[in-house]
Amino acid sequence: MIKCWLTCMKCAQTQPMGLVSRCACGGLLMVEYDLELVKRTLTKEALTDRISSMWRYIELLPVQRADAVVSLGEGWTPLIRLDRAEAQLPLKRLYVKREEQNPTGSFKSRGFSSAVSLLHERGMTKAAVPSNGNAASALAAYCARAGMEAYVFVPKDCPELIIQECLHYGAQLYLVDGFIHDAGRIVEEGKVTEGWFNTGTMREPGRVEGKKTMGLELAEQLDWQLPDVIVYPTGGGSGIIGLWKAFHELKALGWVQGELPRLVSVQEAGCQPVVDSVQGFGAGGSSSDTLPTGLRVPEPPDCGLIADLLKQTKGTAVAVTQTEILKAQQSLGEQGISASPEGAATWAGLMRLCEEGWIGAEDSVVLFNTSHALKYDFLLPKLTVPVVRTYADVVQWKGK
Ligand SMILES: *Cc1c(COP(=O)(O)O)cnc(C)c1O
Repeated sequence: MIKCWLTCMKCAQTQPMGLVSRCACGGLLMVEYDLELVKRTLTKEALTDRISSMWRYIELLPVQRADAVVSLGEGWTPLIRLDRAEAQLPLKRLYVKREEQNPTGSFKSRGFSSAVSLLHERGMTKAAVPSNGNAASALAAYCARAGMEAYVFVPKDCPELIIQECLHYGAQLYLVDGFIHDAGRIVEEGKVTEGWFNTGTMREPGRVEGKKTMGLELAEQLDWQLPDVIVYPTGGGSGIIGLWKAFHELKALGWVQGELPRLVSVQEAGCQPVVDSVQGFGAGGSSSDTLPTGLRVPEPPDCGLIADLLKQTKGTAVAVTQTEILKAQQSLGEQGISASPEGAATWAGLMRLCEEGWIGAEDSVVLFNTSHALKYDFLLPKLTVPVVRTYADVVQWKGK
């Protein structure tokens, strides 16, 4: 029985499932499933006693054999309601999907659990990735889990803790004097000689499928009622593509009805190719003083497609400043949520869109907190903390 195959997003031609991402026409290939086959075993009822990881949706993931799955317990992350903020703004509902709780501290775990499973299933032993950091540490962890070798290339200003995280998982790491696309060129140049499989953004079909599970989960956690708006921090764009694909599959399965959520991409001002593309400008490059985060992708491979998908859902894209991002990070911290700059950018984007009236009191909104604040410790304010030995020291310190 053929479970899935690849379909071109541009010309709709199909081809057998494989580790390729480009159609002969240049279009992006995506996995398509035999949904009739899927429905035989994947039902809403069946989900009630499935594993608490993204592999609960194994019928909608492209592995052929369950024993090929390389998992560290990714997915099924909490969806938290921010009731205080919701009342203040006001909004109908406001949630944060806590993707920082994934095994490698970011939603990248999902994509690499899926992609490394596909490589492992085909007996591959070496994978490489150009990354701003979290893709590198995710590849490193999943390769370690599968007994494979990981070669990761990150910009030389990559956060130190993420570098350490990659090394901790035993990856071979290179610091690149340049942006993520420069790292990408190195991987492409060396891959044949070195025997690396390039798992970079949109280089193979597995990562988007893994990210898609964010959308499947969100729907399930909201009892199959999709929110009105989703705010997502966009870099390479596979997160947005994955969410869009999830909702289409759920519609095709008849599990959700009505309009798709309006998808919003948030980027950092200064490196905002998706925002530019949505507004109809040519995508501009990156100013090198933007933060070293997952948002710093000056040349996303499928920028036009991402912009089209946003528009198709009546969504939009916004650029927020570094100052807004850091302020947002603090606001989320004050609500008990450890948000990476990317995750915090969604809060900043929400504030902006509420002010503009693009999001209003009748909307239910979901923010994706894609990673942890602590990975980017150098951005956190350096506060003075008291050192004490006795309670008298506390009293004295308070008196100062
Ligand atoms: C990679 C990354 C992003 C951007 O995601 P894309 O799917 O590449 O658009 C956002 N936040 C974090 C923390 C990331 O690591």
